[in-house]
Amino acid sequence: MSEKFIPIFEQTPASKTWDFPPHLPPSSGQLFDRLHRPLKDLRISVTDRCNFRCTYCMPKEVFNTQFQYLPHSSLLSFEEIVNIAKAFIAHGVTKIRLTGGEPLLRKNIEELVHMLSQLRCANGEPLDLTLTTNGALLGRKAQALKDAGLNRITVSLDALDDAIFKQMNDVDFPVSEVLDSIKQAQAVGFKAIKINMVVKAGVNEQEIVTMARYFKQTPHTLRFIEFMDVGSSNGWRMDDVISSAEIRQRLANAGLALSPLEAHSINDTASRWRYADGGEVGFVSSVTQAFCHDCSRARISTEGKLYTCLFASEGYDLRALLREQNEPDKQQARIEYAIANIWQQRADRYSEIRGSAQAEAKAKIEMSYIGG
Ligand code: SAM
Ligand code: SF4
Ligand code: SF4
Repeated sequence: MSEKFIPIFEQTPASKTWDFPPHLPPSSGQLFDRLHRPLKDLRISVTDRCNFRCTYCMPKEVFNTQFQYLPHSSLLSFEEIVNIAKAFIAHGVTKIRLTGGEPLLRKNIEELVHMLSQLRCANGEPLDLTLTTNGALLGRKAQALKDAGLNRITVSLDALDDAIFKQMNDVDFPVSEVLDSIKQAQAVGFKAIKINMVVKAGVNEQEIVTMARYFKQTPHTLRFIEFMDVGSSNGWRMDDVISSAEIRQRLANAGLALSPLEAHSINDTASRWRYADGGEVGFVSSVTQAFCHDCSRARISTEGKLYTCLFASEGYDLRALLREQNEPDKQQARIEYAIANIWQQRADRYSEIRGSAQAEAKAKIEMSYIGG
């Protein structure tokens, strides 16, 4: 961390009030945080609701009928989301991922996709616009999403065995419907669909080789995700994590040895590997090989709070700036100014200091609220 750093503000995110200068500086198209990490990726959660109850994300005991989801008036409207996206793009964001909760539950999500697909990056190129889904509604929505301009899709799928999958999604949802959705998405033109498999010890570890063999024969890229300690409702323990190295060893033992590939981009969360006879597979090793040093991601919660880390305990309220009635012509410049201040203050690196007193002292927000 830079010794020369002078704090711009001392308030916590929740208490932050803004004192804007009369002349707001124009955004330069690039922004760096205190650890010299650029702002490149934005993840936007479009709903805090989900039609699954994955035991590691939204366990039924917590996310039951008593659970208070956000009222509709708290959600950012599509116009508000687009305005936020524009402000981030002005600072150099080139990739936007829509997530949730389950993003396909948000009514008319394809309209939002269409609106975002019209935006251009600071260099004039189209955005890299992607979405992560559990796949349940994808078959029905795939064509509309493709037509609206969505570039890429990630589907979460933790098992091919129906009993294990149903036990994990905890709403009795059959694996065959997710596989049909993936086929449908492929049929309408989505290429190289990514498949995210969260691996949890004692729950779906026996599916590692089965999943690898199945997706090796498809154009899709399977990515093994280490089970993370996000939020406070999933009862995470280190013993539940199967490391990426262990997964690679199990694949090698099954005749599926891997060798490493070059990263596409320094900001990639997944490391890329290839099978000896071709085909790619990815590993997201957030627990055993933290990648905070290259983390260029900001997250917007469903109600418009900006989080600078998946493990942050508080977010900055951008919705208040969006809904400010005073001097509407200055609104966009103010949001850009606020984002710049927040990012320039950022020093988050939770995964690198996991287990330390500093990391454990804070409460963490839920993955379903902020999105993966
Ligand atoms: N509902 C959508 C889905 O499941 O794809 C999007 C939101 S979900 C929160 C985004 C991703 O986070 C999914 O791939 C999910 O498997 C992953 N995820 C959720 N909880 C996790 C945890 N504790 N550790 C690792 N990944 C997790
Ligand atoms: Fe829903 Fe996705 Fe969380 Fe599963 S991982 S409960 S599908 S938000
Ligand atoms: Fe980025 Fe925070 Fe995850 Fe580190 S822990 S990679 S800073 S989101």
